[in-house]
Amino acid sequence: MKAIRVHQFGGPEVLKFEEVPDPRPGSGQVLVGVRAIGVNPVETYVRSGIYGPKQFPYIPGTDVGGVVEEVGQNVKQFKKGDRVYTNSTVTGAYAQKVLCEISQVHPLPEKVSFEQGAAMGVPYATAYRALFLRGQIRAGETVLIHGASGGVGTAAVQLAHAHGAVVIGTGGTEEGRKLVKKQGADHVLDHHSPGYLKQLMALTDNRGVDAIIEMLANVNLAKDLTVLAKHGRVVVVGNRGSIEINPRDTMSRDASILGMSLMNATEAELKQIHAGLVAGLANGTLAPVIGREMPLSGAAEAHEQILKPGSHGKIVLKP
Ligand code: NAP
Repeated sequence: MKAIRVHQFGGPEVLKFEEVPDPRPGSGQVLVGVRAIGVNPVETYVRSGIYGPKQFPYIPGTDVGGVVEEVGQNVKQFKKGDRVYTNSTVTGAYAQKVLCEISQVHPLPEKVSFEQGAAMGVPYATAYRALFLRGQIRAGETVLIHGASGGVGTAAVQLAHAHGAVVIGTGGTEEGRKLVKKQGADHVLDHHSPGYLKQLMALTDNRGVDAIIEMLANVNLAKDLTVLAKHGRVVVVGNRGSIEINPRDTMSRDASILGMSLMNATEAELKQIHAGLVAGLANGTLAPVIGREMPLSGAAEAHEQILKPGSHGKIVLKP
């Protein structure tokens, strides 16, 4: 099969398109024929070495949409021909086939495309865990999705809206903001506009928001703390540097800053998260937005694109 492999840390040019042996499923494993692969910012961080040691060569990625091609012994949950999405793999996602443990594979309803399936694993699970397990969002609360136009943001808007929250989403471009509105945001703001937090306070009658799902904390955390309502929570999902905050802004509101890494999710949480996500796909409340499709051989270009401003849903690779 064809796959992207990384033999050393570095820039996008270390993503090599190569021929590698097909994996075979062992006991409790399934082999998935890949139709689409989700590209996530974390794969650029791992590739460049900032997440520490890695065994070389490795195939990047965790998220695919595809079809079960073969099942190993003792697999009763899936059979050949089942449509599935993955949230993790044994062998790596940027490939024509991926080997998975059954806990890493989830059913993909008929009406959901493989490209949409490839947008589930990291982005939707991140949005779900940030909103409901860390942020404890309740129906009727007002939530700011700070960076709502990308993979995690569009997922968070759909999930929070479906849950009955009042959703304020931000985007950096006109196109991105239109997309955010279409996903169910009640109000949309421009995170590059100088007065947008004043607009946010006006939208909440100067009360502030109950929770913020933050995609770029190193830019926004200090400001976030000034627009929280009493007992408000900021869930830090994305961060690319450091920032100075005024702790008094948390004291005066009894506010909380909550870190969130999907990598810390327990097995039980992942089970809960994907049960919720599969139900949302099946009943139509969740519909991942695909912004751009590129060939698997163009993974390097996808790694450049994912870090550029002007997000519009999810970038997927086609093998
Ligand atoms: P993405 O698709 O590239 O989207 C990035 C988002 O950040 C876009 O909505 C972008 O908006 C927005 N953004 C840019 N400048 C901003 C600003 N000044 N203020 C607020 N938002 C801004 O990436 P993603 O997959 O959604 O991931 C988002 C972040 O979460 C990344 O940093 C990623 O590494 C992180 N993440 C963390 C976890 C975890 O477990 N903690 C899991 C997944 C992702 P415009 O492009 O419209 O300006």
